[in-house]
Amino acid sequence: MPSLLSPLPSSIGDLGVAALVVPNTVSATDIDAMFRNDRSLRAVVIEQGESFGLLTRDHLEFQLAGRLGYGRALNTRRSASELLPPAGTTMPADLDLQSAAQAVLERPECERYQDVLVLGPTGPRVVTVSDIFAAVSAHFRHASLHDPLTGLPNRRMLEEHCPDISAGAGLPDVGILFIDLDDFKSVNDTYGHRVGDAVLTEFARRLARSVGHRGSLVRLGGDEFAVLLTDVDEDAACAVATGILDSLEAPFAPDGCELRISATIGLALGVDIIAEDMLAGPEVLLRHADGAMLRAKQEGKGRIGRIGPCQEPATFARQAHIRRRLSSAVDHSALTLHYQPVLDLATGEEAGVEALLRWNDREIGPVAPDEFIPLAEQTGEIRRIGAWVLEQACAQSRSWIDAGTPRHIAVNVSPVQFASGTLPSDIRTASNRHGIPAGMLEIEITEGMAIVDVPAVASQLRELIDMGVGVALDDYGSAYSSVAMLRVLPLTTLKIDKAFVRDIDSEPYTATIVRGLIQTVNAMGARVTAEGVERQEQLNILRELGCDTAQGYLIAPPMAPSEFRMVTNKTKGNS
Ligand code: C2E
Ligand code: MG
Ligand code: MG
Repeated sequence: MPSLLSPLPSSIGDLGVAALVVPNTVSATDIDAMFRNDRSLRAVVIEQGESFGLLTRDHLEFQLAGRLGYGRALNTRRSASELLPPAGTTMPADLDLQSAAQAVLERPECERYQDVLVLGPTGPRVVTVSDIFAAVSAHFRHASLHDPLTGLPNRRMLEEHCPDISAGAGLPDVGILFIDLDDFKSVNDTYGHRVGDAVLTEFARRLARSVGHRGSLVRLGGDEFAVLLTDVDEDAACAVATGILDSLEAPFAPDGCELRISATIGLALGVDIIAEDMLAGPEVLLRHADGAMLRAKQEGKGRIGRIGPCQEPATFARQAHIRRRLSSAVDHSALTLHYQPVLDLATGEEAGVEALLRWNDREIGPVAPDEFIPLAEQTGEIRRIGAWVLEQACAQSRSWIDAGTPRHIAVNVSPVQFASGTLPSDIRTASNRHGIPAGMLEIEITEGMAIVDVPAVASQLRELIDMGVGVALDDYGSAYSSVAMLRVLPLTTLKIDKAFVRDIDSEPYTATIVRGLIQTVNAMGARVTAEGVERQEQLNILRELGCDTAQGYLIAPPMAPSEFRMVTNKTKGNS
């Protein structure tokens, strides 16, 4: 990659060439002779006591030629200072480049291309207008290829230059380390972004020190960095990775805090990439390194992970690809909401709908929420996605109200969305913006290991219920369900997971458990919804057991709003 070390000019004084200075007593004839003798001389600087003026070759020629062709003879006795142009073309050396370019653009059209005299401690310099604009454009290019916080090259630089490097070195000899700080989100959440930024800057410094000239560093974004290594084998790449982890042993001390920071590193080597992936280029290598990092995180953080040739990197590489594409999902309108009707088993009428997220990515194709939501929770992207879902559901609710078919909408909410404590106010703001009564909304939460701070979540749920928003506990009966949660979380609905419903018509105890659950939940003042109803027999049993509402392919699949149809009485008569 182009060296980081070539310093970019920061002010106009860094540009141009030192000027030839002559006293103002020199005659026009002598100056004319200087230009004739030195074809490369663009301009001379005329010194007038304390001040300086710029006399360019063009301007002198214009003065001496005269309109009738005998100006040269008339002007020979004039002194240099008499030939200077009236308008000043001087700028101070410490003027920044953008201001200099702006000043040039503000000149009258006929003077816009005149050279500039720059005055500063290193003496007068002559700077051409093209020098100024070339330097400004180099700045823009540099900014587009570098991360402003750490000054390291960014992902774009890696994408632009990695193919050249690997073509030069040969892909098999190229290696990539994908480095991700552990629990960096909690540093930001606990100490604020200023400390977070200081940690990233210090980390970049340690990274640069431990990698040295052995590789090129890149900040991929957030707390993710990469090192591109050329001419490496596994031992050499591992040595670099180990050096990076060692550099984290000393605590970080931003803003007087003392923080222990660890990182997880994924390593991918060109030799590991199978032949057909090789054609896809080094971007595949980065994805493999990302996958190796993810797996190392799952195995315990602060370590180096490598996915070797026979270790099926596909899943991890796919996860890495999904994580990478997630941030563009909201921006590129690749998300949509589908709505699945919920049937009221007592009346046979539609009781409402559940909003379910759909993502069709340009590169990956459709990705199921079960696959991308956990990854969005890891990267934190779920906050933006969750806000989009809420906004979209409220907008849809508004258009159904306006069409005369108001529907109760349930929205799935990730435990991560509770962390900031603002979920109730976010929901209030979104529903007010669209003029939706709070009673038209419900949130669905999935209990699980992700609910770490139960009292904080419970108090937000209470606030929502007080506002009139329904609160459903989703997927009850799947992996992590506990009866304790029914006591501690304020709820208006319990949703029985499809795993229970699946067996309800074949396993007698399942029906018994569900009956007990329905009675318990109803006694607590909440309603029960059965999920994943696919057969009429299941629906009949659920109705007999006193289940309030049901949802599943038997009733209707999740549908786009444009294909949405009302569900009424469809299955009631069959019981
Ligand atoms: P969930 O909230 O339990 O949603 C019900 C899932 O069951 C949906 O899967 C739905 O399409 C599927 N389903 C509906 N009827 C049947 C049926 O009869 N049989 C079977 N086998 N499945 C049925 P989907 O849409 O793939 O969503 C999966 C999970 O992803 C959801 O489970 C929910 O936990 C999560 N999710 C979906 N949308 C969002 C969202 O906007 N935000 C968050 N945080 N999570 C979401
Ligand atoms: Mg749900
Ligand atoms: Mg569910």
